[in-house]
Amino acid sequence: MAPSDHVLSLRQRFCLAIGAPIIADAGLDPRALGGWAADHVARARGEHELHQAAVEALRDAYAIDSRASLMAWARERLPARRELAHVVAAFSIATLAHYVSDDDAWQAILLAGKLAQTTYHSWDDFATTCAPVPDEVRAAWAELPWTTELDVTVLAPVAAPRAACPRCGAHPTRPSPTAYIYCEQCGRLVDYDFARACATPLERPGPAYEAIRAELAPKLAAAHGDLLRTRAIQRALFDAWVDACPGAQSIRIQDPAYRAALVAMLAEGETRAAFDPEACARRAALDAATARLAFVTVDGQPRVVGETYRAMEAAMFAHEARRHELAVAHRIYEMHPDHASPALIRRIGMSAYVQGWLPYLAEAEAQALLARTDLAPRDNLAAPPDLAPRDNLAAPPIAVLTCPHCDRALEIAVTATRIVCAHCGRPVEVPKL
Ligand SMILES: [Zn+2]
Ligand SMILES: [Zn+2]
Repeated sequence: MAPSDHVLSLRQRFCLAIGAPIIADAGLDPRALGGWAADHVARARGEHELHQAAVEALRDAYAIDSRASLMAWARERLPARRELAHVVAAFSIATLAHYVSDDDAWQAILLAGKLAQTTYHSWDDFATTCAPVPDEVRAAWAELPWTTELDVTVLAPVAAPRAACPRCGAHPTRPSPTAYIYCEQCGRLVDYDFARACATPLERPGPAYEAIRAELAPKLAAAHGDLLRTRAIQRALFDAWVDACPGAQSIRIQDPAYRAALVAMLAEGETRAAFDPEACARRAALDAATARLAFVTVDGQPRVVGETYRAMEAAMFAHEARRHELAVAHRIYEMHPDHASPALIRRIGMSAYVQGWLPYLAEAEAQALLARTDLAPRDNLAAPPDLAPRDNLAAPPIAVLTCPHCDRALEIAVTATRIVCAHCGRPVEVPKL
């Protein structure tokens, strides 16, 4: 990807400036994506050498050597809102290393900028998280108001306690390591934290799925009318999809039995839909509406044209409603390896769609979509805002248990009977302590 050669918008400059202390310290230009302004590239050692330098910089500083390792590295930082300057710097340099497209990098950089803006009070406040900030960076910061409108939709992080477990009645007392929230007492899947899922913007399960589906389309067409072959191809498709976006899945996906059951459920949904004339008609209407989508560039970012988007969204909801009827009729929800409720499975399924579209929607449309899909954070208002999870007096004492599957230490509530290992995702029966 060539270094950015267009004029950056104010919000892009603001978010890029979050990484400025790191980029400047590396001797690069903090005002350009990749660290090199277009008019300076010609005077540099050439694109090949810039690429090599970017690859080495990411490897030496962060042990990042691929798109996947960049995503895994960011997954540990963005949701926790830590090392945001490094996150911006890494994504910026990753464009030169060809690990991400400019568009992907901007998504992550804008999100990191928004997270910094909503976590700290000012540039001075933010500076306390960075190593010494050079004077020229402070001068550049002074030109960018801390309250710059970024037009990025981020959801408030979920505060404990949330909804009670439907099986044992326990309330979560600690933040979940992933978007899939398992009960701390009995290990049941209790909820899905969409805000957490959105903090890993590059996973993009929706686009990943569409790409794999396009690849397998000829095979699926050839299997038309053959239920067994269609099911086998759909399973291969979802198997590839799980590999493409591991961070978008439950921590339990590492367990082969869990993975097989999830893939089987997803494939069954697609297979039954392929043999249902009503679902096929609604899918065709959805594809037609998708083909009519139009995009414009607003403030340096692609945005979908509202009218074309709303037509597609209506077709999507109509299709999903039929899929729900089929899932009930064919008992597909019962195949879910977490034995989650149909409502929760639908929310998780919808999350991939919403996550894919949020960056292209204006704030008002984004909020409407979140409300309609029940993905906006819930129960947060009921939580006392300053109640740190650790200070929660209702929380039972913590004990340390070694996972019998992966041998790593787990912090658990002493009253827990069954938990999901936060490292390997295997269920662990807790011995009476
Ligand atoms: Zn429970
Ligand atoms: Zn484990």
